[in-house]
Amino acid sequence: MAILKNIAAIAKGMSITFLEMFQPTTVENYPKGSGPLKGAQFQERFRGVHVLQRDENGLEKCVACFLCAAACPSNCIYIEAAENTAEKRVSGAERYAKVYNIDYNRCIFCGYCVEACPTDAITHGHGFEIASYNTSTLIYRKEQMLVPMPEGAHFPLKVDPAAESDSH
Ligand code: SF4
Ligand code: SF4
Repeated sequence: MAILKNIAAIAKGMSITFLEMFQPTTVENYPKGSGPLKGAQFQERFRGVHVLQRDENGLEKCVACFLCAAACPSNCIYIEAAENTAEKRVSGAERYAKVYNIDYNRCIFCGYCVEACPTDAITHGHGFEIASYNTSTLIYRKEQMLVPMPEGAHFPLKVDPAAESDSH
């Protein structure tokens, strides 16, 4: 009886394989496809190269709180913080990340940094073509990950000191 059950199970499994032979073949035409990902398709939740976000005014969302670096199990985030000044405002809080590097030699794309960020400054993009024979090129700098400035915004944002002191 057990043998018959096993044979039936194998036949059922093989029938699925057999039917698949007559289904149309679906391939992604990578790397000759259209779009920025050259035809590659990803689920929205795919964790690719990180993206550093700006707010609608062009200010960087990162406020250099170091929570992402603290949460990172691979210790691959390096941040140097700097103070915003009246003349040069880069983020919406007191500090901004003057340097923000991620070492993709060590990143395991776990997403803990994204979860830890209180300002949604760091997210996962869909970038995936980062393989390299030169490991130094796998250290990504802030400038490589920062989203472009929205149209109409200027960098660095100049703040009128008089207007700032009026607001206090
Ligand atoms: S995805 Fe994980 S390993 Fe990569 S930088 Fe973020 S916390 Fe670190
Ligand atoms: S990316 Fe987020 S968690 Fe990391 S330093 Fe910037 S604000 Fe803090």
